[in-house]
Amino acid sequence: MANWPEIDFSQSTEDIRKQFEKALKEIQSALRSFLLSDATRKDLLATEKEIRLILSDMEKYIDEWSSEAAESSVTQALVASLLMLGLAETVEEAREQTKLTRKQTALLDYAVESLRTDLKAVTANLERQTRSVIRRSYTDSMKRTSTQSQTEISRAAKQMLADADIAIIDKAGRRWKTSHYVDVVTNTRLMESYREAVALDGIKNGSGHAYVSYNSKTTDRCKDFHYSIVKLAPDIDSKYPYYRDLPHLFHVNCRHYLIPIKNLNDLPANVRSKNGL
Ligand SMILES: [Zn+2]
Repeated sequence: MANWPEIDFSQSTEDIRKQFEKALKEIQSALRSFLLSDATRKDLLATEKEIRLILSDMEKYIDEWSSEAAESSVTQALVASLLMLGLAETVEEAREQTKLTRKQTALLDYAVESLRTDLKAVTANLERQTRSVIRRSYTDSMKRTSTQSQTEISRAAKQMLADADIAIIDKAGRRWKTSHYVDVVTNTRLMESYREAVALDGIKNGSGHAYVSYNSKTTDRCKDFHYSIVKLAPDIDSKYPYYRDLPHLFHVNCRHYLIPIKNLNDLPANVRSKNGL
């Protein structure tokens, strides 16, 4: 049986992370100039405008990047699936067969939209965060009674700059730094579209079943599911669980994926032994 081609999102994730880091640096530099200025109302409006421009460039980047990254994820999934199902001999041959069906196109559109939504939540939050830094320091400057040193940013201002690098505060109240949050969101979403593309292909070209990948480096509870057989749609008549009903598996930032099964009577030894076959 063919080997599962390695999933590679490294270029995509690096590109978007770098772009966010660049935008964040520009924002912090605009904020720093503002904190060192006389902080007049004119300075305030100019800084807000500058930051809005940086973020709107970032949003344009997100739009394009999301299409490319999602397409790469879906294509990689289809290539892998076609190889595993024996419908192509080589990666090149599989690539030629990855013309998307209507369902796969819908899946791709969904993947693009979810990437855009998640990443634009970050830019929206950065905008809110920086706006509050600017407004706070503006009111502080009006309370200033003596001339503050222009070369030194006060401790409060430093804290304000650090506060600007909070991408998101999640439901549990954890504060996420922008680059880390972007990494996690990106990887989670790309793995999700990859998994869904494999599932669609396994329904179309396979037995409607798949098994969970093995990952020797995993430290999480997903290892209980290594090689477990799952069904790919809830209405398939089968004794195996639907993959979305399994607890914990495919959590945020999970590295596990699905390998479609062509024939349930012809399975690798580890899959048979895991499932008591
Ligand atoms: Zn996992």
